[in-house]
Amino acid sequence: MSMMKKMIVVGGGPAGMMAAIQASQFYDVTLLEKNEKLGKKLFITGKGRCNLTNECDIDTYLKHTVSNPKFMYSAIHAFNCQDTIETFRRMGLKVKTERGNRVFPASDHSSDVIGALVRELEKRHVDVQFHRTVTDICTEEYPGNDGTSYLKQVTGVKCKNEFFPADVVVLATGGLSYPSTGSTGDGLRWAEKLGLAVVPPEPALVPINIKEDFCKRMMGLSLRNVNVRFLLPKSESSGRKKDKIIYEDFGEMIFTHFGVSGPVILSASSYLHKYLKEDEEIRLEIDLKPALTEQQLDERLRKDFEKYSNKQFQNSLNDLLPRMMIPILIERTGIESYKRVNEIRHEERMKIIKYMKCFSLHVAGLRGFDEAIITKGGVAVKEINPKTMEAKKIKGLRFAGEMIDVDTLTGGFNLQTAWSTGYAAGQDEQ
Ligand SMILES: Cc1cc2nc3c(=O)[nH]c(=O)nc-3n(C[C@H](O)[C@H](O)[C@H](O)COP(=O)(O)OP(=O)(O)OC[C@H]3O[C@@H](n4cnc5c(N)ncnc54)[C@H](O)[C@@H]3O)c2cc1C
Repeated sequence: MSMMKKMIVVGGGPAGMMAAIQASQFYDVTLLEKNEKLGKKLFITGKGRCNLTNECDIDTYLKHTVSNPKFMYSAIHAFNCQDTIETFRRMGLKVKTERGNRVFPASDHSSDVIGALVRELEKRHVDVQFHRTVTDICTEEYPGNDGTSYLKQVTGVKCKNEFFPADVVVLATGGLSYPSTGSTGDGLRWAEKLGLAVVPPEPALVPINIKEDFCKRMMGLSLRNVNVRFLLPKSESSGRKKDKIIYEDFGEMIFTHFGVSGPVILSASSYLHKYLKEDEEIRLEIDLKPALTEQQLDERLRKDFEKYSNKQFQNSLNDLLPRMMIPILIERTGIESYKRVNEIRHEERMKIIKYMKCFSLHVAGLRGFDEAIITKGGVAVKEINPKTMEAKKIKGLRFAGEMIDVDTLTGGFNLQTAWSTGYAAGQDEQ
């Protein structure tokens, strides 16, 4: 019989695997995963390439953390982005760094990241059990030192009718996004049942529904190098005297049958929840030509209009705009599409410029968990010791990964959160 203390890790995603690997030096570790394999979600990350971290300093990581960056302070100092890179290198994974300091496996295969973790778990004799759906977390109460209060201590977990005793249980069951990968929010339900505060989970890094129906007609159109701005318009009812910018970014986006998606849109979605809940009107403005001032754009447009002076308006914008967008922009200007270019008046040109510099849309809401990269919300950070990831109210119960109320932007930061919190949850008792 092993004399080591017993740890159960629930969930074989990145956070659970890291916790199990780290804890194997101090504990006899069993990892229970409900799927038939480990890292099902990890497999689909980064479009199958797995952007496993970001090669950046701690400040940059914290700046990209949208909810509760302060909570992450200890964990990211104990295991930072460089530690992730080195740990994977030591596990035999070759990595490369791309644009925006995004780190990927050199092979471009997420399966190699999973392979490295699986080999490490084997090497460290972690007992990995598949098809184990944990159904309950068991605790017992014992009297506190003051003789009046009671403290709770974890005693193990239940899988259907089977009991797995443990001194320490790490919950790493993930959030609610892409439920088909196994992340169905079980851990959040247990936390609530155990009396811990849970911030209601919501989809984040998620595409956005748009009110204007014409997005459908541009489905599949990707815009690069555009400036997007989400704002609350000024209005008398809200007492806002000028527009309030919620989020502004430069980069790539795509139109879909329901609205908009793509990198800058996903990032923006993490900042809209509060305003959507308050039923605020949110406007999205796209600057299609951010490199040009209105004056420069006018010069450019005049040049094109000279070039195409005998053509119809609808055939004069091909050098400036993607084809799918032209009929829609023309409709919005209200200018007759058959009009000869040499008949377009100054005011009309100004209107065209206005729509190119500020193509506006209205947010109808966010898409659901099925399409969300991550879950915002989760076990409230006030319930968790940020150094050990242990529940303050329940001895031996620890958390790791996305089920904690921490979420970040894209770029490898969410997986870094999983590695750092997993590492902290895998430490010996202090
Ligand atoms: C499409 C997509 C692409 C992404 N790309 C990136 C990227 O490139 N870079 C990045 O940083 N982040 C990315 N993310 C986010 C990242 O995948 C998650 O933040 C990360 O996987 C969270 O890790 P986790 O271990 O906390 O949870 P999960 O990965 O969700 O793992 C939880 C595990 O727990 C298991 N489980 C759940 N309930 C039970 C139970 N009752 N009993 C036993 N086991 C259970 C699940 O089966 C699962 O294996 C992406 C997410 C998606 C959906």
